[in-house]
Amino acid sequence: MRRADIQCPVCLFSGYSDFLCEVRGFDIYNCAKCAADHVYPMPAEEVLKRYYDSSSYYQGEDFGAYEDYDLQTAPTVSLVDSLLDAYSVRGKQSILDIGCGYGSHLACAADRGWECHGIEVSDHGRSVAHQRLGEEARVVESVDRLPRMAFDLITLFDVIEHLPSPYSLICELFVRGAITPETTLVMTTPNAGSDDARKNPGKWKYRYPPYHVIYYSAETFEFLFKRMQFSSIEIVGQYSLYPWMKEPLPMSRYDGLLVRAGGSTLGEFFAKRVNEGASIEQATRCWQQSTAFQNVEASPRPPLRLPWLGSRLVFRLYGYLKKIKFLRLAKRWVVRQVGK
Ligand SMILES: [Zn+2]
Repeated sequence: MRRADIQCPVCLFSGYSDFLCEVRGFDIYNCAKCAADHVYPMPAEEVLKRYYDSSSYYQGEDFGAYEDYDLQTAPTVSLVDSLLDAYSVRGKQSILDIGCGYGSHLACAADRGWECHGIEVSDHGRSVAHQRLGEEARVVESVDRLPRMAFDLITLFDVIEHLPSPYSLICELFVRGAITPETTLVMTTPNAGSDDARKNPGKWKYRYPPYHVIYYSAETFEFLFKRMQFSSIEIVGQYSLYPWMKEPLPMSRYDGLLVRAGGSTLGEFFAKRVNEGASIEQATRCWQQSTAFQNVEASPRPPLRLPWLGSRLVFRLYGYLKKIKFLRLAKRWVVRQVGK
């Protein structure tokens, strides 16, 4: 381990990051303050955009890209369905899906009569969304192309890990009045605090820089959302790594994380600063230098530990037993064929 004097893009503390692994020429560090894993040096935004503009990102020709966008996003479509059902009781609602891809989540909201907006940075993804959704949703390239309005629900499904900083996007949403205290923000992301991720950081299945540049665990999210003054924060694990165990399990035993946050009044701060003539970057910097930002303490970092040995053994034994049973069935079939 070598501790580096570099700044963590989530807690912004310098000098707390340890070298974790190197993947495809990208160095990844782990922050001891907020538990975020982050690529360093962070690739420039223009470089990242070039990766996403190719249609190969959506059809599996790139390392770490989608093998089949529709197929791989199918599990989140059912999650969106249940979310939308929970919110639909309030009458006509508005949704903003950030990183909306081909628009499969927005299609669910449009079916329920919601006002639908999406942001998709990829030219290819946006053109497919336009073809599929037509007038039912407005899909734009960036936050500054959105209409000035507050949204009831803002979703980022497996998006936050792609952003070089969580702040620039979310602060801009506050500045534009898209997030109010009534807005619920919902995010999903692979769990960087999972047993799988910690056991072998360089081989973890979601470790694909430069597509994924910041890797979040539950502690990182708690830290981030407290800093952004969200009053209700709910973080739950998704997709158990130990399906035979009774849930709920400790957070490290889940493959993914789902965060729901609401009640942030940070929009008032940004609106005031920007109205006083500051740019979004200046307002963000001013907030980050303020005591409101500095006073949020990180939770004590959970120790990096190997998963419980017993459960891995049970899992392996189960695999062997399944194989043996298959071999026995195959043998029985061959014997029967020979006997005929
Ligand atoms: Zn940090």
